[in-house]
Amino acid sequence: RREQAGDGVLPLTMNYRSRPEVLAVVNHLFGADFGDEFQPLAASGDFPDPVFGAPVELLVTDKSTYSETDVHWRRGEARAIARRIRDLIAAGDAAPGEIVLLFAAGTDAEWYEEELRALGVTTYRSTGRGYFGQQQVVDLLAYLRLLRNRYDDEALVSVLASPFVGISNDGLVLLRRAAPKRPLFVALERELPATFPERDAQLLRAFRQRYDRLTAALARLSLERLCERIISEHDYDLAVLARWDGRRRYANLRKLARLARSYEELRGPDVEGFVRFVRDQEAVGARELEAVAEEEGGDAVRLLTIHAAKGLEFKVVVVADAGRDKAPPASHEILALSDGRFGFRVADPITSKPRGAYAYDAVQEARREEDRAERLRLYYVAMTRAIDRLIISGSIDPERTADDTTPIGWVLGRLDAKEEIERAGAEPVELEREGARVILRVDRFATEPEVTVESFPEDGQLALFDEGGVAGALPPLVPALQPLVEIAAPPVHRVRRLSFSALALFERCSYRYYAERVVGMRPTDERSAVPGTPGLAATEIGDAVHRLLELVSLEEPIPPDDLAARVRAWYPRVTDDELERIGGFVRSYCDSELARRVAALPGARPERPFAFEHDGVLLHGRLDVLQLEHEQAVVVDYKTNSLSEGTPEEIVEHDYRLQRLVYALACFRAGAQEVEVVYHFLERPDAVVSTVFRLDQVSDLEGELSEAIARINAGAFRPTPSEFICAGCPALDVICAGPRLRSASYAEHALATV
Ligand code: SF4
Repeated sequence: RREQAGDGVLPLTMNYRSRPEVLAVVNHLFGADFGDEFQPLAASGDFPDPVFGAPVELLVTDKSTYSETDVHWRRGEARAIARRIRDLIAAGDAAPGEIVLLFAAGTDAEWYEEELRALGVTTYRSTGRGYFGQQQVVDLLAYLRLLRNRYDDEALVSVLASPFVGISNDGLVLLRRAAPKRPLFVALERELPATFPERDAQLLRAFRQRYDRLTAALARLSLERLCERIISEHDYDLAVLARWDGRRRYANLRKLARLARSYEELRGPDVEGFVRFVRDQEAVGARELEAVAEEEGGDAVRLLTIHAAKGLEFKVVVVADAGRDKAPPASHEILALSDGRFGFRVADPITSKPRGAYAYDAVQEARREEDRAERLRLYYVAMTRAIDRLIISGSIDPERTADDTTPIGWVLGRLDAKEEIERAGAEPVELEREGARVILRVDRFATEPEVTVESFPEDGQLALFDEGGVAGALPPLVPALQPLVEIAAPPVHRVRRLSFSALALFERCSYRYYAERVVGMRPTDERSAVPGTPGLAATEIGDAVHRLLELVSLEEPIPPDDLAARVRAWYPRVTDDELERIGGFVRSYCDSELARRVAALPGARPERPFAFEHDGVLLHGRLDVLQLEHEQAVVVDYKTNSLSEGTPEEIVEHDYRLQRLVYALACFRAGAQEVEVVYHFLERPDAVVSTVFRLDQVSDLEGELSEAIARINAGAFRPTPSEFICAGCPALDVICAGPRLRSASYAEHALATV
C-alpha cells in the first residue's frame, strides 16, 4: 500500500479495534460532518463471539422531567448509566475492568462514580483534580507545613478545618477574634475565651497535645515515618477509610509517604524542602496519577477524560455526560486566527457600545466553527475506543433548541431520532439508519414506589382503658406479615450464550459439558486426543481440512498447490499418512457434484458467522458455506467423520440434528423462506445428506431447540461415555469413571459401595 501511495497520502481506514456494528454507527455519525476528508472506517478485526443485542446504545435522559423535582437531571443520567453497567456486569457481558466511562470534562465525574458505587460497582476515577490536588494530600501537606512553622495561618486553618481536627466554622471565627492581628496559633497558646463552644475547645485541646508530641518527635523521625505518625496520631486514616472511597484516599496518603521516603533518600530529611517540592509539582501541573487502591487496580470500572483515553481501547465504552454544553468563548476584544485573519472590536462613536471592526464577526464565527470541529474530533476519539460495545449517554430537554448543539443533541440530530425520543416509553427502541443500528433508551424521572403502611385508629392504644377494654380484644398493633416465601435454590447453571460446539458437547456427554463449561476444568489434552497418542487428533485433522477448504475458491474448486506445506506449518507433527488423508478430503470436495453445484450458486460465500437469540440464549457459530438469494438459503457443512460409524444419514440424525436445526433457524432469522442444509462427508465425494426446511417448520424447530436449552438449564448432567468423547476429558478418573461406567460389574461395584 505504501508503494501504491507513492509520495501521496496513505489513508489509514482499516480499524483493527472495533466491531463492524460500532464502526457503522461512527461512520454514519461523522461521515457528513467531517466532509470529503472523512474516510469511512472498515473493520479488520476478528470477532468470533457476537455481542448480545445491538452493540451501540443511546441512553438519553429527558431533563424536562427532572425540572420540578429535587433530583438533578445529571444525577438521573448518572443513575441510568450505573444501572445499565450493573446489568451488563450481572449478565456476564463485560467485567468491570473492561468498562470505561469517558468524559469530555471530568468536572462532574464524581457524581457518576457515586452512583456506580451505590450499586456496588467498584470504580477507579482519574478525572478532575490531579493527585496533588486531592484533599487528603493537601491536608497532610498543610500539617507538614504547620510542623515547620506554627505561625503559617493558611496551613493552620487547613488543618483545623480538616478531619485532622474538625472544628466548626464558628470556632474558627472565634479563634480569629481571640488573637486579632496576630498569627492564629497565638490564640491557641492563650487561654480560650469562656464563650468558646465546648466541643470545639475539646478538639483544640486534643489537637495541641498531639501537635506538641509530633513537634517533639520531628527531629527523630524520617519523613515517611513522620507522615505516618501524623496520620495515626489524629486517626486521620480512620476518618478517610470511613468514606465510600476511603481505600483510594488512604492509598493516596500512603503514596505521599512513599514519595517523602524517596525525597529523603535523595535530599535528606528536609520537611520544608519536601513541602516545596510537592507544591512545585502541583504548580507545574505534574501528571501524577492518583494511587490505585489494591482492589481497584484490575477489576474496576474506570472513569477517564477522553484526552487520557487516547491510544487506549476498552471492551465497553460509555461516552458520558454528552449533554454538557461547552461555555461559549469569551468575547475577546481582538481575535486572530492561525491563517492570519483577525478582527477587533471598538466602541461605537455614537452609542459607545462595542462593535466589530474589520472581519471581527466572520473571525468570531470561524473561531466557533473551529471549537465545534475540535469537539467533534474529541467525541470521534472517544467513540472509536470501543471494541464491542459503545454507549453514548447524555441529557437533553427535547423542547429546548439550545440543547441541539450539545454532543448528544448532535448525535440525535444525525440519527433523526427526535420523534422516537418523544414516543419512547420504558422499553428500548431500535433505530436503523443506513445500516447503522442503535438501541435507544430514554430515562425519565419516576418517583420511587411508595411503601404503603396499614393505618390504625389513633385511639387504638387508649381503647385499652375503655370500659372493659383490658378484658376486651386488643386492637391489632402491627400489620400481619405475609408468610415468608421459601426462596428456590439457584439453578446449577443458567446458560446465556451457546456456541454450536458447546451444544454438541452437551449432546454427546452432558457431564463433560458440566466439567468444562460450568466448573471450568480444562481438557487434559488440548487436542482432545487420547493422551500419549502420536500424530494428529481427529479434531486437528478436521481443523486442517476446514482451513484448506477456506482457501479453495468456491467458483473454481481446486486443491491448493501448497497443501502439504501449509498443513506442516500448522501441525509440524503431521505424518505422511495423515497428509494423504487430509489431501484426500479436500480433493473429495473439489471433485464432487456438490462443489460443481456450489460453483454455480451466485453469491455463495465461505465462513459466514451467525448469531441469534432464542429463549434468552445467544446462539452463535459459523457456516462453512452460505448462499442466501431471493429468500432461499443453502448451507453447506463439511464433515470429516469416519463413515464406519454409520451411514451419512444415520450420523446426521444422531450427531448433527441439533446443529442442523440451529443452522436452519439462523437462516430463517436472516429472512429466508426456505433453507437447505447440506452435509458433505468428505470421505466420499458423493456422501451428501441434504435436508430442506420450510417456514412452516420454524415453530417445530424452535420447540426442539427450547427443549435442548431447557435440558441444559435444568442441570441434567449425566455421563454418557464412549472412547471418542472420553479422550481428553478433564473429568476422566477425577470425578468420572469414563468408559468403565459401561461395564456392568463396575456399575454394580459402584452401587454396592455407595
Ligand atoms: S469421562 Fe467420559 S463419560 Fe465421564 S464426563 Fe468425561 S466424557 Fe463424559
